[in-house]
Amino acid sequence: MDLGISGKRALVCASSKGLGLGCAEALAEAGVNLVMNARGAEALEASAQAIRDAYGVNVVTVAADVTTPEGQQKVLEAAEGVDILVTNAGGPPPGLWTDWDREDFIKALDANMLTPIALIKALVPGMIERGWGRVVNITSVSVKSPVPVLGLSNAARAGLTGYVAGTARQVAGKGVIMNNLQPGLHATDRAEALDGGAAKAQGISVEDAKKQRCATIPAGRYGTRQEFGATCAFMCSQHAGFMVGQNILLDGGATNTTM
Ligand code: NAP
Repeated sequence: MDLGISGKRALVCASSKGLGLGCAEALAEAGVNLVMNARGAEALEASAQAIRDAYGVNVVTVAADVTTPEGQQKVLEAAEGVDILVTNAGGPPPGLWTDWDREDFIKALDANMLTPIALIKALVPGMIERGWGRVVNITSVSVKSPVPVLGLSNAARAGLTGYVAGTARQVAGKGVIMNNLQPGLHATDRAEALDGGAAKAQGISVEDAKKQRCATIPAGRYGTRQEFGATCAFMCSQHAGFMVGQNILLDGGATNTTM
C-alpha cells in the first residue's frame, strides 16, 4: 500500500533504538525525511546512517535529552516545519506505590506527559497553517490496563491520553490527525531490562522470566519494532485521516477485554 506521505518530513523522538527506531524505519521506507533524536550520539548516528543507506531519505540527527527544555529547544530548531510528529521518551522506573515522592512524579510527568504536550504545542500550529499534519504519541498498554509496578508510567501516560483526547478533536477539522499508539510487550532493550527486574524479584533466570511473560500473551511472543513501526507509519499516512483521538493497542492480545 502506498502510504501517500513520500517527501514529507517527520520528527521521531527517542529513536536510536527500540520502538522509536521502528517508527523511523517504517516512515523512511514510506519515503519520509527524518529528524531523529536520542541522548547517546553514537547509537543515534549509527541508526540514522543505516536508514539513509537503506531508504535514501534525508536524516538529520539531534543528540539531546528531549525531556529537558534545552533538549526540546535543540530538537525543535531542527524540526521546524515538520509534517509528522512521533513523540517518545524512555519510560519511568518500576517500583512500589509507596516508593515515589513528588520529585519522582514531576520527573515522570515531565518525560511522559509534559514533553509530548510541549512538542505538540510547538509543532501543530505549523501543521494547521499548512492544512496537514499527523501526530502519534507512543504511550503504553498501561493506560488501558495498569501495570502495577509502573505506577509512574500509569499516571503520566493517562494524563497525556486525556490531553490528546480533547486536543485531537480540536485540530482534526484543520487537517491534523492525532492519535496514541499503546505498546504492550515488545522485544526492545526496555523489555529486556524489565525481564531482568522480574528475574531478580523472583530469583529465576532472565530466560525463565521472559518465558513467563510470553505465556501471558495470547500471541505467545513479544512484538517486534518492525510491526510497531508499520502501524505507526499507517497512522501517519494519508489513509488515517478519519482516525481521531484513538488509542491503538499492540499487545498480542494480552489485555483481556472485548473492546
Ligand atoms: P528502548 O528500547 O529502551 O529505547 C529507548 C530509545 O529512546 C533509545 O533510542 C534511547 O536512546 C531513547 N531515549 C530514552 N530516553 C530519552 C530521552 N530522555 N531523550 C531522548 N531520547 C531518549 O525503549 P522502548 O522499548 O523502545 O520503549 C519506548 C517507550 O515505549 C518507552 O517510554 C517505554 O516505557 C514504552 N513502552 C515500551 C514497551 C516495550 O515492551 N518495549 C511496552 C510499553 C511501553 P538514549 O538512551 O541514547 O537516549
